[in-house]
Amino acid sequence: MRRLVVLGAGTAGTMVVNRLRPRLPHHAWHITVVEQSDTHYYQPGYLFLPFGTMRPRDVRKPVRATLRHDVDLVTGTIDRVDRDGRTVHLQDGRELPYDYLVIATGTSPRPAETPGLEEALAGGDVHEFFTYAGAMRLAARLADWPGGRFVVHVAEMPIKCPVAPLEMAFLADSFFRERGIRDAVDLTYATPLPGAFTKPVSAELLGSMLTERRIALEPDVVVESIDGDAHVLRSFDGREIPFDLLVTIPVNMGADFVARSGLGDELSYVRVDKQTLLSVDDDRIFAVGDAADTPASKAGSVAHFQVDGFTENFLAHVDGRPMTDLFDGHANCFIESGGGKALLIDFNYETEPLPGTYPLPRVGPMQLLRESRINHLGKLAFRHLYWHVLLPGRRMPVPAHMSMAGKRLPATDGDGGAAVDRPDAPTPVSIVPSFGED
Ligand SMILES: Cc1cc2nc3c(=O)[nH]c(=O)nc-3n(C[C@H](O)[C@H](O)[C@H](O)COP(=O)(O)OP(=O)(O)OC[C@H]3O[C@@H](n4cnc5c(N)ncnc54)[C@H](O)[C@@H]3O)c2cc1C
Repeated sequence: MRRLVVLGAGTAGTMVVNRLRPRLPHHAWHITVVEQSDTHYYQPGYLFLPFGTMRPRDVRKPVRATLRHDVDLVTGTIDRVDRDGRTVHLQDGRELPYDYLVIATGTSPRPAETPGLEEALAGGDVHEFFTYAGAMRLAARLADWPGGRFVVHVAEMPIKCPVAPLEMAFLADSFFRERGIRDAVDLTYATPLPGAFTKPVSAELLGSMLTERRIALEPDVVVESIDGDAHVLRSFDGREIPFDLLVTIPVNMGADFVARSGLGDELSYVRVDKQTLLSVDDDRIFAVGDAADTPASKAGSVAHFQVDGFTENFLAHVDGRPMTDLFDGHANCFIESGGGKALLIDFNYETEPLPGTYPLPRVGPMQLLRESRINHLGKLAFRHLYWHVLLPGRRMPVPAHMSMAGKRLPATDGDGGAAVDRPDAPTPVSIVPSFGED
């Protein structure tokens, strides 16, 4: 009997076990998933909790209920992986031997990495929304906040869902308008990036959307400290950003056991081949989702697109066949822009987000890099797809590899740009290299 152990039952780990279980015969394979939490959280919902658009019951389910009944669940915290002994050690002393290991322990916010932030988060005016508790605490604060200087801040890239802080700024603008206090609020977006976002076409569009909404952009902010008592954020270049209410995205890092097990980079992400997701240090270990150090965005959509190819590759690898379904860095993200609208971006390792339609050429119905109501409805509807289609391991009717169909190529000299209509249109090589390195 061969043993597959999957670490983490979040988005990626749950899809991995629910996809692989029916493909691996019960008489030959035993599958165990290890998870520290009893609750599975739909993290994209954390953006909506502070504004009352989603409720706690929309974003939480018991972990056991998300897993196939024929997969073993071990509830506990992973302490380290002993690669020589092929054993996972839990903090409570339990040991789990494995033949193959999939690490899907994601990434989490680390306030301790920024001087002053942990203390500031214990007070009333500094908040985060990358945890369930943080999003609920922000909801309570916003309910009767009278206005003042509202700053949205990103400590360092990469973070999961790199567009989430921009969405927070756009939704806050919309929320304060609806409450009739927008004129009493100064909104600022402070980022370590040189602009609103990483890549030229989207950075320009998102930057102009900040301007239209009277949200001041504070670029190149490398945070030195956050002083919750003095209500000021200090940057290494000497800038001081005062606030009455700060919503910060702390430094994100992979799980500590990854570093302790000698598998991680400097941010504790598992070093993998970016196309096969196989560890570069150990050919019995894969990493899927945010836990991997691929230069793709850290997003649930990426985990979903990865799992498609990973499933086939895993079956090939354990049979001694070559892995041929290579991950291309495909990601797509809705960007809530307030007022019941959203944008959609779709990109991969080689191609930056481009305008057009998705998933079908001309028809859409989603609009790429353009605000629309249908995009917003798509983002809200995604929650149901997540719980009922993606997590159970059912197939979504969208290709795992990025397609150029429907995308509009950037204009070159004397050319207005061209729409790509054929569904099988190939991806042009390196429109912009390495999008995900943000
Ligand atoms: C505010 C917010 C908005 C977002 N919006 C979007 C969006 O619109 N679209 C999108 O595609 N993505 C979005 N994301 C990102 C998305 O939620 C993540 O990228 C996705 O959940 C990654 O899946 P994962 O399985 O890699 O990690 P996770 O889902 O985080 O799962 C990791 C699991 O590992 C467990 N774990 C960690 N360490 C240990 C340990 N030592 N022992 C035992 N268990 C452990 C954790 O408890 C967790 O259950 C958003 C995220 C946030 C925070």
